[in-house]
Amino acid sequence: MSDVVGHLIGGKLVVNAHDRSQAVFNPATAVESRLVSLASTTTVEDAISAAQTAFPAWRNTSPANRARIMFRFKELLHTNADKICQLIGQEHGKIVHDAAGELQRGIENVEYACYAPELLKGEHSKNVGPNIDAWSEMQALGVVAGITPFNFPVMVPLWMYPMAIVCGNCFVLKPSERDPSAALFVAKLLQEAGLPDGVMNVVNGDKEAVDTLLNDARVQAVSFVGSTPIAKHIYASATANGKRCQALGGAKNHAIIMPDADMDNAVSQLVGAAYGSSGERCMALSVVVAVGDEAADNFVVKMSEQMQSLKVGEATDANNDFGPLITRQHKDKVVEHINSAERDGAVVVVDGRDISIDGYEQGFFVGGTLIDHVTASMTCYQEEIFGPVLLVVRAESMQQAMDIIDAHEYGNGTCIFTRDGEAARFFSDNINVGMVGINVPLPVPVASHSFGGWKNSLFGDLSAYGPDAVRFYTRRKTVTQRWPSTDVREGVEFSMPTMK
Ligand code: NAD
Repeated sequence: MSDVVGHLIGGKLVVNAHDRSQAVFNPATAVESRLVSLASTTTVEDAISAAQTAFPAWRNTSPANRARIMFRFKELLHTNADKICQLIGQEHGKIVHDAAGELQRGIENVEYACYAPELLKGEHSKNVGPNIDAWSEMQALGVVAGITPFNFPVMVPLWMYPMAIVCGNCFVLKPSERDPSAALFVAKLLQEAGLPDGVMNVVNGDKEAVDTLLNDARVQAVSFVGSTPIAKHIYASATANGKRCQALGGAKNHAIIMPDADMDNAVSQLVGAAYGSSGERCMALSVVVAVGDEAADNFVVKMSEQMQSLKVGEATDANNDFGPLITRQHKDKVVEHINSAERDGAVVVVDGRDISIDGYEQGFFVGGTLIDHVTASMTCYQEEIFGPVLLVVRAESMQQAMDIIDAHEYGNGTCIFTRDGEAARFFSDNINVGMVGINVPLPVPVASHSFGGWKNSLFGDLSAYGPDAVRFYTRRKTVTQRWPSTDVREGVEFSMPTMK
């Protein structure tokens, strides 16, 4: 064991003797590589205190100066990219090119945060009444917290804290305890970029750390990304404690393949969307709904062929397409989903259950799996699998395909493959899903838009990053100001004031 992953509190790296700890594994080898500290309530309270102490000066720092730190942070993210991708690979198992893509999508959120002076200008109206002007300004909330999942250890935290911080807040991040090192390393870069101590804090930990953040009255808002059962718990607890909360949950993302689709294009797009990152993406494309048996048969044949060339292996080999799953328990869960599909009468066309990687026989690998003749009543369809498993459901019409998608509890992402613009437009207008692709299999919005699903994929009113993040991390104050003229005095008024 080489080291212990601690916390960043008040600008200092901290490992507390009173914190519990647990092992972090390399999922490609199943070897324990580090320990992560699990913050006690006292440790989390220290982080909240550091953030609270830093807040008065930070809220009064100009947005331009806050943004300048983000410009430097962006440069440091680029210059440290190899190290960041290496840390992601060691603990998550993500292949180096995929980790670089994750980092780039995170950096785009830092770039958006650099617009802070523009985004925080507010609204102004002159002469709304005699000698009266009005403006609305966006004020920082105070201490805000972020709780993030294992599957994007760098990108999802970057959805949150760059924007929260440029809006004038101080932040406490609780990354996933399964792959904590990259998030901590990146937070230190922000410190190196010139951020004052205490504005950004990281506490590693588990439920105890999260519950402390949810219960501490000094925490004004909570952003959460993770699985739906935990998202529901976070949203209910945070809002019951009077905090603002956005809690993004799980997903089951469907692609409709219409009979007129360019099938070769659809297959080459979908293979990466389904199996990239071992399917451990909240926007992973996990269900194809083929309209008509001919389209379904054609898709299954071509996808099976395409899958012959899938390369599965460890993170540092850029020739690999995807790596292991995050833990042995998760691997067992994914395999059990494939078993249950078979028991329920679906057909496993390509089977990744028995894959073995030379030199990495103990790793948590599952190979690319394709399952046909899945129906909506099967457990493998109803639940999020979060593995390299693509299901094929057959529908008789586009309307039936849309009804299937709408009936699912999740509504994160979806897409349609077609050459028919009218059908695509009808689909995007009417489908009950938050993020829609048209011949685009992973419709993850760019950083200047916001990211959010519908139904059980998001609890709260505002989505993550982009313009919604500016609203989430600020509160509006509207000021109505009169400077009375010395020539004309206003008289006494008992009726409701109107702007005559
Ligand atoms: P998870 O829900 O197990 O964990 C997420 C965070 O919650 C972690 O920081 C974890 O420590 C904490 N946590 C776990 N159990 C807790 C408990 N009982 N009380 C308080 N906190 C707890 O999720 P995960 O396995 O790390 O990530 C995968 C899930 O995240 C998938 O369901 C995936 O779809 C979802 N996800 C969603 C999005 C999105 O934008 N909607 C993005 C990425 C991941």
